[in-house]
Amino acid sequence: MNNRKLHYDWYKDPNVFLQEQANKPPCRHYGQYGYCEYGLLCKYTHIVYDTASGQPIYPPELLQWFELQKQEATLNNTTAPKPIPPTQRYKLPSGWKIKDLPLSLRPPPSKHGYDWSNAGFW
Ligand SMILES: [Zn+2]
Repeated sequence: MNNRKLHYDWYKDPNVFLQEQANKPPCRHYGQYGYCEYGLLCKYTHIVYDTASGQPIYPPELLQWFELQKQEATLNNTTAPKPIPPTQRYKLPSGWKIKDLPLSLRPPPSKHGYDWSNAGFW
């Protein structure tokens, strides 16, 4: 339904992706011509390092990729549905309070990472 998102699913985490790019052996073609048609999909890295400062110099496609990442992040921030607050998980009839319930019926503190798959046994 969202082709754009699917298309970028292979991005993974930006830092992981960058790390993977940096760990690949240098692309000779890119080193020689400053261009490689495989772009980000090249099995070699296009990141070169400044000989003087040792700072990484990212290829245009990687910079472009960073831009897309930022756009995606902004997009997701504005359109993503708000996460449901945990308190809405156990809805009680109006007027009821959790502390009025018998101990066995009280929901466990969520901070303990309770396994909700057992909820049916109560
Ligand atoms: Zn290449």
